Amino acid sequence: MGLLDDLNDSNKLAKKNSMRCAMCEILSRLTADEQKALNEALANPDASKANIARILTSNGYKVSQSSVTRHARRECLGLSR
Ligand SMILES: [Zn+2]
Repeated sequence: MGLLDDLNDSNKLAKKNSMRCAMCEILSRLTADEQKALNEALANPDASKANIARILTSNGYKVSQSSVTRHARRECLGLSR
């Protein structure tokens, strides 16, 4: 453990209070096909965020509509600040 190790440790650099996005978490657990379908649903202006949240939750991926919306706006990446 030294300065170099610490600076190269992304966990130590991460903001302590930044909640990990539930959608990013779910996407990291999906297969490539599922990720593609979910990203397409998120990009579809006709798709309801509430329905996406409901579909994910009913398939065992518990997520709130607000998390879906925040992720779809890319606010979870901190780009909106
Ligand atoms: Zn996200």
